[in-house]
Amino acid sequence: MIQEELISLIKSKIIHELSKDSLDESELGIFDTVDEAVCAAKEAQKRLNLLDLEKKEIIISTIREVCINNANRLAALCVEESGMGRVEDKIAKIILAAKKTPGTEDLTPWAKSGDHGLTLVERGPFGVIASITPVTNPVSTIINNGIGMIAGANTVVVNPHPRAVKVSIETIKLINDAIAKAGGPRHLICTVKKPTIETGQQMMQHPDIRMIVATGGPGVVKAALSSGKKAIGAGAGNPPAVVDETADIAKAAHDIVLGASFDNNLPCIAEKVVIVVEKVARKLMDSFKNENVYILNDEEARVITEKIIIDGAINKELVGKDAGYILKQIKVEPISDVRLLIMPTDKNHPLVHIEQLMPVLPVVTVSDVDEAIDLAVKCEQGNRHTAVMHSKNVDNMTKYARAIETTIFVKNGPSYAGIGMGGEGCTTFTIAGPTGEGLTSAKTFTRQRRCILVDGFRIV
Ligand code: NAD
Repeated sequence: MIQEELISLIKSKIIHELSKDSLDESELGIFDTVDEAVCAAKEAQKRLNLLDLEKKEIIISTIREVCINNANRLAALCVEESGMGRVEDKIAKIILAAKKTPGTEDLTPWAKSGDHGLTLVERGPFGVIASITPVTNPVSTIINNGIGMIAGANTVVVNPHPRAVKVSIETIKLINDAIAKAGGPRHLICTVKKPTIETGQQMMQHPDIRMIVATGGPGVVKAALSSGKKAIGAGAGNPPAVVDETADIAKAAHDIVLGASFDNNLPCIAEKVVIVVEKVARKLMDSFKNENVYILNDEEARVITEKIIIDGAINKELVGKDAGYILKQIKVEPISDVRLLIMPTDKNHPLVHIEQLMPVLPVVTVSDVDEAIDLAVKCEQGNRHTAVMHSKNVDNMTKYARAIETTIFVKNGPSYAGIGMGGEGCTTFTIAGPTGEGLTSAKTFTRQRRCILVDGFRIV
């Protein structure tokens, strides 16, 4: 039997809970209060838990399909509402999350047989998970966490960032509507109509929330970890890209521009500073000239820094804006299609050490690779998030990887290769550096459970 026939046969066997053509807000998972959202998700989790793996996989393929089909619309809505990022890159992120987030196949059981029988280890759900999502990747994080959490038989209550409420609610409604039309249970993903930091904190304290997954800056990670519950913290990064004298310099420049300009530098994994050894520094700057970048002179760099950093902190008004828009702030008319502003500077410049989340990339020249690695470790601030290197010297790559201890270490490619875009492996939009789960997936959102049959079921 071909795959499609099999799927439609299984689909027809899922119990239809909803038969109406159009559903109201609460049926689509949108509630007035945290309590109502958690209560609905709790009931839904009981129903989800009864479904077998094949049915869960159908629900997951339904989520993948509806998100891919609506990627353009959601991406445009996201840019319009948040005022951040690039539509075409948001489309790529949504499609990546929908296609490459692992499903139930991630939950591989483990068995041990011996003289005393058989022990089986399986992964079970936590129950209802609170997912606190960022403004930088609102849609892709909901899709990514949603698939992983549902694959693990959990239901989800999302607390979106207040600047991405409309698009987050739209994503949740689309997903729940598609699941309902495929005959799946309602309320697998819920949220509140007016999410705020307070509703996020109510979720963290709610007795029926069994796990908190916080994707955002240091404040939300700290709050989640202080909740007294099982919490996964996916926090800030400041990924340094080191370029040594053995690198393919033209390719390094190209890859750095691709990674650092992707969605206007909003991804936590995007290159935030370049550190290049003196011997190839000039060649790298010349290679940048072949890309869609604008290289700031000293005076422009000084003025733009005053616009970007105010009282020691990043000016949020410029976060995720287009490079051309930022250039206009200093009265420079942008060339068409400029994606990234390159700022040659020294190692003490604040942008070298602070996560900017905008397409302005400081480039620091150092004498050799050891100095580059030392500086990269300082810039990374102990986040243990992401680092990038352009090199053909295996010893240098090993030295850097050991020194920086990041969750993701990308060699000779744009940073986004680290989340499976143009690189091998699955994707995630919740990279848990602080709590150590790394690239989260269904397995991360489940509990280990062991079942032991004593003195039986050994067949040899
Ligand atoms: P943010 O920390 O301002 O907000 C993230 C979410 O947390 C929002 O929903 C917000 O309402 C909520 N929040 C903030 N403080 C809270 C508190 N004290 N209690 C409860 N909820 C709280 O971050 P942002 O601007 O939305 O996103 C950008 C940041 O997130 C960057 O630092 C980026 O590196 C990081 N990020 C990390 C990952 C990762 O996987 N590690 C992924 C995306 C973004």
